[in-house]
Amino acid sequence: MFYKDKYLALTVKIISLAIIIVVVIFFFYKIYQGENTYSQILDDKFKSEKIINEIRQNSEDLTRLARLYTNTKDTLYKNQYFEILNISKGVSPRPENFNRVYWGILTTKEQQDPPFIKTIKKSGSQLIATAKLDTLEKERISNALNYSLLLTQLEIEALHVLEEAPTSLNTLEAVPNQTKAIDLVNSEDYHKRVILIMKELNKAYALLETRTTKELSTLESEIKKSIIIISVLLFIIILTIVVIIQSALQLKKGTIDQLQISVQNKTKKLNESLMINREITKDLQTLNISKDLFFSIIAHDLKGPFNSLIGFSTLLLDDPVVNEHEELKESVQIIKSSSQNTFELLQNLLNWAQIQKGNLPFTRENLKIDDIVNNVLKVLSYQSMHKNIEIKTIIPDGPILVYADKDMLSTILRNLISNAIKYSHKNGTIEIICEKTTNAVNIIISDTGIGIPEERIKKLFDFQYVQKTRGTQGEKGTGLGLILTKDFIQRHHGAIWVESELGKGSKFTFTLPDF
Ligand code: ADP
Repeated sequence: MFYKDKYLALTVKIISLAIIIVVVIFFFYKIYQGENTYSQILDDKFKSEKIINEIRQNSEDLTRLARLYTNTKDTLYKNQYFEILNISKGVSPRPENFNRVYWGILTTKEQQDPPFIKTIKKSGSQLIATAKLDTLEKERISNALNYSLLLTQLEIEALHVLEEAPTSLNTLEAVPNQTKAIDLVNSEDYHKRVILIMKELNKAYALLETRTTKELSTLESEIKKSIIIISVLLFIIILTIVVIIQSALQLKKGTIDQLQISVQNKTKKLNESLMINREITKDLQTLNISKDLFFSIIAHDLKGPFNSLIGFSTLLLDDPVVNEHEELKESVQIIKSSSQNTFELLQNLLNWAQIQKGNLPFTRENLKIDDIVNNVLKVLSYQSMHKNIEIKTIIPDGPILVYADKDMLSTILRNLISNAIKYSHKNGTIEIICEKTTNAVNIIISDTGIGIPEERIKKLFDFQYVQKTRGTQGEKGTGLGLILTKDFIQRHHGAIWVESELGKGSKFTFTLPDF
């Protein structure tokens, strides 16, 4: 919960940072736009000033040309006069750079045709209409244009007066006409109209100047405001980044602390369970020692009496008195066989206890396999006879030697053969085959007994699944025989496996390698 809140807070901070960055970008864009507008305003102002200037210049040039013409009567000036008039009225096409160098060239007299490309026809009022001017400014310029029309009227009147003068020898008459014309373009009325034009144009200039200055300063202050906002936001961004880094570090530290705590807790628990385990192990060791002691005492103390029982019953069976009485003989045989069985069990238990203690003696020597087999068969003869089981041994001529521990090999064979007898029905057959291969001796013990279910075969040699099954005549077992057998074979680096079919019999094969 604590972490969830912290993560949430961190996420909120990061989102806020992103929003601030977006706002900063917006203000940067605003500044960029403002700067564009700024140069646009300056550009528009320049264009408008050019228009105002052109009107003023036209007016001045027309005045000059009218005066030159009335003074000199040179028709060149008259033509130039009408040319300018027609261009400014929009009757003739407006040459490019009309208001820049055109007049200078026109007034040099040498240049008859201006070398400029003539473009569209545009009157002064059309120019004003397309210019970026406000209504007041337009009004002033229109006024100036109207006054210049009035001025043009006077000039044209002067031209007419000059041209109406009869071509006569009487110079006295001609002179007054020219004078009249010159007077017209220098009259007080003429000057007044010129002043009116200039006044309107000056007012237009002033209005334009005031408006654009105001617009520019508004824009400037907006840009300044944006810059201040951006600076503040940049500062906030830096602060937010610092805060985010701090929170992230804290969170990381928190996670590490949490991890440390959980590691500490787990270590504590582990230590506790280790302590418990130690105690359990100690208890188990004590128990194990007691168990080993118990096993060896029982096995050793019982082995002696059973040995005596087997020895005395064997002696009794040789006694002619016992042999004369069938029932007595049978009883002695039962005593002998039961003693032998129990002795076997004790032997297995003793072996098992010694394996557990890890001090089972292991001494190898070259042994004749047929000797060992025959000894085991002798010990088990009563059981096999009792069930009338035929035991065939197939051991090739010439001694087969195995390098093994005598007691262990005897135990292996005894367990496997006694199992074969135990799980065979009366009158069954057991086959013991020994064969020598290039580097091992294989011993196969097969019977025609009850067989082993398939699912049990894999678990036969596993201590975890120890299972005791009674023999076909109720013989008992410890369930340890096969486990001991496998262990002993493995000590000799050999292997054991079993093939079996339920109801048909089993075949145990083990192999002992040569050394
Ligand atoms: P046990 O002392 O009970 O015979 P073993 O370890 O010798 O114990 O054998 C384990 C089990 O394997 C037996 O209980 C029996 O079910 C099965 N078994 C061993 N040998 C044979 C065999 N030759 N035929 C049928 N079942 C066998």
